[in-house]
Amino acid sequence: MSKLIVEQVGKTFDTGGSAVEALSDINLKIAENELAVIVGPSGCGKSTLLNIVAGLEQASRGVIAMNGKSIEGPGADRGMVFQSYTLFPWLTVQQNVEFGLKIKGVNPKERQEIARHYIDLVGLGGFASALPKELSGGMKQRVAIARALANKPEMLLMDEPFGALDAQTRLVMQELLLRVWEQERTTILFITHDIDEAVLLAENVYVMSRRPGRIRTQIQVPIPRPRDHRATVSPEFSAIKKEIMEMLWEESQTAANEK
Ligand code: ADP
Ligand code: MG
Repeated sequence: MSKLIVEQVGKTFDTGGSAVEALSDINLKIAENELAVIVGPSGCGKSTLLNIVAGLEQASRGVIAMNGKSIEGPGADRGMVFQSYTLFPWLTVQQNVEFGLKIKGVNPKERQEIARHYIDLVGLGGFASALPKELSGGMKQRVAIARALANKPEMLLMDEPFGALDAQTRLVMQELLLRVWEQERTTILFITHDIDEAVLLAENVYVMSRRPGRIRTQIQVPIPRPRDHRATVSPEFSAIKKEIMEMLWEESQTAANEK
């Protein structure tokens, strides 16, 4: 059974009289434990789609279901990691990671242990009592990932989470996410406009068309795991990257011809 089903989903924004069609006919099936990556050009509706899955936006049409149950709003069963850092600045790393568990009423000892586990998993063992302002951008995103995972979500939703990081840190974070996923096998829906990032991470890359967004195609990435940055120089990697680039190039040509 699919973990997430998106069927014929469309979204039209009404902006004071004029309508913007952000998504049209999105169809998507994500399997349990899948690391799924959606790639598409800026403005094609990626964030809109993710926000609909998160329950933060309402679809204008269509069906979205997780575990066979229709998604009606936000819930702790979906953990989110955004591009901008969303930590509470007045809480320590430990307190940030424990936050959701505290809300759920998990007792202090248990939530301390769970938080510890995820803080260690993201490599921040020595920083549990640090405040966000004392951390680099990459470290803050590690905390955000640990915090999302600590709530044991059914699914992790990530919207260009490494987009604001420098190239070197970004690579380190991609490898970290690969290790986290290999260990935890949480179902992940990851969004990016970066083709290299998509191919390095994904089991399946879903390529979106330009706005109004549709899923143009699904490309399986059979590159063996465990993967690290060395995979990016393999011939298989280049071949898949080329396929995606050509598809996105075609999209941009159609857009140019219509102008
Ligand atoms: P992406 O994440 O792929 O860059 P978005 O999902 O953010 O794209 O946006 C898709 C389209 O929908 C864009 O044209 C954007 O301007 C429009 N859009 C997004 N959110 C809103 C909103 N709240 N109101 C009106 N238009 C919006
Ligand atoms: Mg976006």
